[in-house]
Amino acid sequence: MNTVGNEDVITALRSRSARDRVWRDRFEQHLDQIPHLLEVMREQRVPLAATRNDSERVSGGGGSTPLPFRADPVDDCDDLWGALVEYLGEVSERLQDPAPAAVGATWAIDGAARGMPSWIDGDIAYRAGYVLIAWLVDRAIEIRDLRMKDSEDHLFGLVRKLSLRYTVTPIERPSRRRWCAVCGENAVAVSWVTDDGGEAVCRVCGETYPAPAEALVDGQ
Ligand SMILES: [Zn+2]
Repeated sequence: MNTVGNEDVITALRSRSARDRVWRDRFEQHLDQIPHLLEVMREQRVPLAATRNDSERVSGGGGSTPLPFRADPVDDCDDLWGALVEYLGEVSERLQDPAPAAVGATWAIDGAARGMPSWIDGDIAYRAGYVLIAWLVDRAIEIRDLRMKDSEDHLFGLVRKLSLRYTVTPIERPSRRRWCAVCGENAVAVSWVTDDGGEAVCRVCGETYPAPAEALVDGQ
């Protein structure tokens, strides 16, 4: 059994360090999903010419322009990569810290990042995504103080939507698990990606614990 009482938990949640930890858990868990999501979307980008015929051609315009790739994963991948690059660009500018070179794998309109160039395959997409999220996670403390809530809500909302759409099981850091007061296992985890409210659930017995974000709002 664990030995932490409810009072201790509440006190801890109200402390600054606990608030920071919640912010950081949510930040890291959303970013952690990105490389794999980019890879999955990129790998679903099969050239239509190899699989389908005229039925998949783009309608409108000339009516017969062949669409080289399946549109949805390409668009979704562009959206996620574009949002990530824009977010990182803002962080880089505000921290006066040069962005990693991988942001260069981007096509842009009027200086705004819109997506990945067509030559990027799943493997490169994964590695480029990993470089960017590692850069961000390394600067988590400074980024938290920038208070970029709107940009983060946009990027993280996209991660949750695409994780659901591509049925990617959220990646979790086992080190983030906490002890369950009911079954005693070190198996209580918050899945910010499946539920942005932040409710914690024991993976062994199913016991749920209140969303830390709510407890923190009360404590402020
Ligand atoms: Zn349990």
